[in-house]
Amino acid sequence: FIDELKNGNSNILVAIRVRPLSQKERSLSEFETIRILDNKMIVLLDPEQERDDDLLRKNRLKETNFAFDFVFDQFASQQMIYENTTEFLLEGVLEGYNTTVFCYGATGSGKTFTMIGTQQEIGLMPRALSQLFNYSIQDRFKDTQFKVSYVEIYNENIRDLLTSEDKNLEIREDKNNGIQIAGVIEVDVKTVSEVLALLKVGNKNRSKEATDANKESSRSHAILQLQVESKDKAAGIQEQIIQSKFSLVDLAGSERAANTNNKGQRMIEGANINKSLLVLGNCIQSLSEANEKGIKNPFIPFRNSKLTRLLKDSLGGNCRTVMISNVTPSVSCFEETYNTLVYANRAKNI
Ligand code: ADP
Ligand code: MG
Repeated sequence: FIDELKNGNSNILVAIRVRPLSQKERSLSEFETIRILDNKMIVLLDPEQERDDDLLRKNRLKETNFAFDFVFDQFASQQMIYENTTEFLLEGVLEGYNTTVFCYGATGSGKTFTMIGTQQEIGLMPRALSQLFNYSIQDRFKDTQFKVSYVEIYNENIRDLLTSEDKNLEIREDKNNGIQIAGVIEVDVKTVSEVLALLKVGNKNRSKEATDANKESSRSHAILQLQVESKDKAAGIQEQIIQSKFSLVDLAGSERAANTNNKGQRMIEGANINKSLLVLGNCIQSLSEANEKGIKNPFIPFRNSKLTRLLKDSLGGNCRTVMISNVTPSVSCFEETYNTLVYANRAKNI
């Protein structure tokens, strides 16, 4: 992928991460519906047919193959995920490329673990930020400043997570600064611990409500954006300012509203979540197709959801995008896993 990126042949990376079975899933002796062939190929086994003891039918076991830029199995470490999806994009962030990393998947599939991780197993975001801050400290020629904002999109409304105030924010698009969120709080940061403290504040303000599928189910998209601005230390006659955005997105659970017995408000939420995920998928698919075919000014339906409107200048144009799709190997999650693989496969057909 790094070669493709350098050649300008592709700026979208799609990876799959399969999490280990949980203790509970193992105690239910759930078998796995996923087989990983190598670091690009994954096979999904149809559980109905897997259970069948009839030899003849077993030979005709329905298998679906998918190929991605990267497939990570349950033994893949956080470091390995980081190195192969994000680390090599950081220099580009400092050179002015807007860069976005998404975690996509059903609730419980490992999005937050991948993005943020735990104290022992540090996730992508803290790793990437600490490396970015380090690069900038070591740079003797440039002064770089970082600002963080943290918002959620819930029911197609944008809310600032750095305040408990419940206000609906608007997106502004201007020629010089690109996409901006009017009135959003931006905090100057220099260290990872400052960002993690903001993340903690923000997560307390996130809209979490129980659904039947999962008590901790997260019904909103959480978007942490780092605004990067650097200029030469030696002030010249014409000062050059390089700006970019590094966006880290923990998407809402992709399970379908139909799965969770939702009614009323919850059902509307489900529809809105699916809408923005659907539009995101459409945008990424159109972008990667245009990229592949060398189409110059492709039409991309950014306007069709808040999420894609907000990320318009982080997805299209001079941008780099990583989508990590998280899946659970257990048979009880077959449907969600199938949907996630199809979604990721549509985003980039390899
Ligand atoms: P999501 O954010 O997609 O709802 P989580 O990241 O909260 O899912 O993961 C659900 C559970 O599985 C958590 O307890 C998490 O620690 C665990 N988990 C997820 N991925 C892994 C992994 N690769 N290795 C070990 N534990 C994991
Ligand atoms: Mg989560």
